[in-house]
Amino acid sequence: MPLPDVMDKLVSLCKRRGFIFQSSEIYGGTGSVWDYGPLGVELKKNLKDSWWRAMVRSRDDIEGLDAAILMHPRVWEASGHVAGFVDPLVDCRTCKGRFRADKLEDAQCPQKPSKHPGEHTACQLTEARQFNLMFKTFMGPLEETASVVYLRPETAQGIFVNFLNVQQASRQKVPFGIAQIGKAFRNEITPGNFIFRTREFEQMEMQFFVEPGTDEEHFEYWKAERMRWHHSLGLSPDRLRYKAHEQLAHYARAAFDIEFDFGGTLGFQEIEGIHNRTDFDLGRHQEYSGKKLEYFDQPRNKRYVPFVIETSVGADRVTLAALVNAYREEAVEGEPEGRVVLGLHPSLAPIKAAVFALTKKEGQPEMAHRIAGELRRHFPVDYDETGSIGKRYRRQDEVGTPFCITVDGDSTKDGTVTVRDRDTLKQDRIAADALRAYLEERLPS
Ligand code: ATP
Repeated sequence: MPLPDVMDKLVSLCKRRGFIFQSSEIYGGTGSVWDYGPLGVELKKNLKDSWWRAMVRSRDDIEGLDAAILMHPRVWEASGHVAGFVDPLVDCRTCKGRFRADKLEDAQCPQKPSKHPGEHTACQLTEARQFNLMFKTFMGPLEETASVVYLRPETAQGIFVNFLNVQQASRQKVPFGIAQIGKAFRNEITPGNFIFRTREFEQMEMQFFVEPGTDEEHFEYWKAERMRWHHSLGLSPDRLRYKAHEQLAHYARAAFDIEFDFGGTLGFQEIEGIHNRTDFDLGRHQEYSGKKLEYFDQPRNKRYVPFVIETSVGADRVTLAALVNAYREEAVEGEPEGRVVLGLHPSLAPIKAAVFALTKKEGQPEMAHRIAGELRRHFPVDYDETGSIGKRYRRQDEVGTPFCITVDGDSTKDGTVTVRDRDTLKQDRIAADALRAYLEERLPS
């Protein structure tokens, strides 16, 4: 039984509550490009911070990097992207649709959605032609071949070309890694499924440089470690699995994807790739740049080009996985419309606590404002005094706020407030002064 398809509901919730908007919507939208609104930017930032903490801050064997999007065009010749980063493309002369020739079984014929392109009698597909996925532009005032540059289709190459800069500046010894988070661009032929496949997206990549011969043990380590990170975000273990690549790229020794079950017809799809890339990338950059990219192991007086174990994950794709994983509809006693909850892991929730005044009388709003102001120095906090208390709870449930704090008639007399838990609906009565410690204990960073 496939898990339910919640994508349409999520797209509408994300727009209504300010998580994600279609890019340039007032002009009819830009194909498969999305903007993150006030809550979406917090959610994605929390996710990227979690990755950065796990991969850089909490380790002494990985260094951070922020390389530029525009790179020397020779980089993309060396990496193989100019010649090989292509998808086979077919057009239909009848419906003018454009499809990936190798993914026709995933596409629908626009004129007869129950059939795949090419299966309907009216379909007239062209021969497949190779389409390079890199966006091309020009550097400087002249639009000529000599000034062509590309928007990077992956962040990894910025790491490879800086391998020695980082190693020497940080005095790291192999094995060590370099990590970065940044935008990547791919002119995808068939993008879609909301932020699953877009033309502009963010990658979080880490290249771990190891001595040849030790690569297999490092590969196994990173495979396990990366799965642990997805679990730490609260993604259900039964929605996650490994998938070995059936066909390895010529330079790869081993490649596994981590897949997440998005439900519906999308089902299990890649969210992260873990690859043993051998010495291919550093070797190619040596060849194309003419500069040595060897590591010198001083104690052993040995020089070699390290092998690379790569972990490559999309920030937007995992954001979508976290949203799909978190979305649920629940019955509520006495409320026929029930409630929608985003059961986001507290570390990802854009708002950690909401503060309400039960009524606008007796100094309640003043006390609630004071509490919100104090807590805001430590956590993202929302203040809300409009609508019934039930409505206010629903609004926060729908955006995943783990705690709601209510100031009522007793609060102004005895200094206590009610704290309601999003998931258990349990309410605790505690002193307002103890709120910060109460939340800190329950909100992992
Ligand atoms: P796919 O087969 O889905 O096109 P890929 O194998 O080309 O992906 P990689 O090049 O390994 O993907 O990129 C690593 C990660 O970057 C992917 O696991 C995914 O999370 C993310 N990613 C790749 N392409 C896109 C895209 N067009 N939109 C959003 N995220 C993407």
